[in-house]
Amino acid sequence: MLEHTYDIIVVGGGLAGLYASKKLIKEGHSVLVLEARDRVGGRTLTEKHGDHYWDLGGQWVGGTHYLLQDLVKELGLEMFDQYEEGDHILDVNGKQIKYAGNISNLNDKYSLDGVFEAIQKLDTMAFSLPSVSDPLSGKPNIDEKQYGNPKTWDSQTIAEWTSKNVKGDDGRAIINWFARVCLGQEPLEMSLLYFLVFLKAGEGYSRLADIKGGAQEKRIVNGSQQVSTRLKELLEKNKNFDIKLNSTVHRIEQHPTAGVSVTVWNDDLGVKDQRVYKAKYCIVAVPPTISRKIDFYPLVSGARDELTQRMPMGCIIKVIVVYKNRFWREKGFSAEVISDTGPIFICYDDSAPDGTSAIVGFIGAQAAREWATRTEAERQSAICKQYARYWGEEALHPIKYLEKDWRTERHSGGCYVGLLGPGAITACHKGLREPCGRIHWAGTETASKWIAYMEGALESGERVAKEVSERVYSSNDQLKSKL
Ligand SMILES: Cc1cc2nc3c(=O)[nH]c(=O)nc-3n(C[C@H](O)[C@H](O)[C@H](O)COP(=O)(O)OP(=O)(O)OC[C@H]3O[C@@H](n4cnc5c(N)ncnc54)[C@H](O)[C@@H]3O)c2cc1C
Repeated sequence: MLEHTYDIIVVGGGLAGLYASKKLIKEGHSVLVLEARDRVGGRTLTEKHGDHYWDLGGQWVGGTHYLLQDLVKELGLEMFDQYEEGDHILDVNGKQIKYAGNISNLNDKYSLDGVFEAIQKLDTMAFSLPSVSDPLSGKPNIDEKQYGNPKTWDSQTIAEWTSKNVKGDDGRAIINWFARVCLGQEPLEMSLLYFLVFLKAGEGYSRLADIKGGAQEKRIVNGSQQVSTRLKELLEKNKNFDIKLNSTVHRIEQHPTAGVSVTVWNDDLGVKDQRVYKAKYCIVAVPPTISRKIDFYPLVSGARDELTQRMPMGCIIKVIVVYKNRFWREKGFSAEVISDTGPIFICYDDSAPDGTSAIVGFIGAQAAREWATRTEAERQSAICKQYARYWGEEALHPIKYLEKDWRTERHSGGCYVGLLGPGAITACHKGLREPCGRIHWAGTETASKWIAYMEGALESGERVAKEVSERVYSSNDQLKSKL
């Protein structure tokens, strides 16, 4: 019989792992978090340069990201509105159009061939799905002759669907752009069904794309990584909570009638410091493809193992260009640009209440792979030239340039999220959330609301805490009844 030091070991000190710990501790369980990096927050990363804070990972808080908004308030953090006054620019399919307000307003004013129809079709298909967590269950509430069904949607890529179903060139360009921006992979790599699942979890196109009321509504003063650092500080006040940083989990061994033993060591520090921790249950709150680096004994289910082989991370380089002043605002621009010429495919005003003036942009999908092979100076120069095309010469003279290629992060492997290609949902979707013995899975990939977002990470943490808490209580009851 194993001696349990903890009720639950949580692998991963990102938002999902920490939020699950918060819920479990509230239920009276003892928890150990093992985090590979020397910091918490995972795919959120706020860097301080001089007196200023820059988000190089997750950043925006959406208008309907209620768990996150509540947590931000509880932790004493403040938010401010994403700047969106003035004209935005659409630089797609050879057109350069100025527009104002939400992206979803575009169609009212400009004749963009096929865009509106295509978005409506995608939303109709997404909302017809019986569920996010089991998209192939039940019958979709839709005319199958006209739209197809989840099985046929999983057998094709977004690129295939777009080329057959979207009429105009503008429509095809915008839908392909939207898929790249949302998930950081090429439309020819993604399952249409997976994209629809993501759309449904994110409440549809407008909610995902918009600033006001949408996923880009607010930012956290001094950066979003504070949600994790403050949550860690809060949890550390509880005697039932323990956390070890610099602790990469390499092996999880299960003993069906007893518990789990989790082996940790850290090569990053150049120290072969091996430790084993024991608990009744384990939560793995890391991206599925990253969990594949862990040696599970006995092996996890076939569905889980296959899923982790088929869920690559997106490719994103996040770029912040800092300027002396907000010259684009003076010229009546918001700094929001949608572009399929690049290198940046979307950007926003990244200025903050501390007086900084900056633009945050993203290079994604194939462009990220290609631009990653160039030097930082080449990327900076190309990006500043792109910005100069929109807002003039001042864009060529930044005072600072920051970038992060998330593919080079050992414990993330890319961002924003892991995603599924054609056929993978049909083949092995059960492996995403279904526990394997005493191991349960969390992380934004497993969310049923706001997959890929911080909100999704919290939602998954809440769900997994409930699952595991019930099992700990029932195993305690069984033990008591045996005594
Ligand atoms: C550039 C970028 C921009 C984004 N923009 C937004 C945005 O604006 N709004 C939004 O809501 N979301 C955004 N996101 C997504 C958001 O950051 C993530 O969805 C969320 O942070 C994921 O949290 P998580 O806990 O599920 O996973 P993670 O944050 O990945 O946490 C997993 C943790 O597990 C650790 N780990 C991995 N392997 C091991 C191991 N073997 N042993 C121990 N620990 C391990 C990792 O170090 C990490 O800390 C963005 C992400 C990126 C990178």
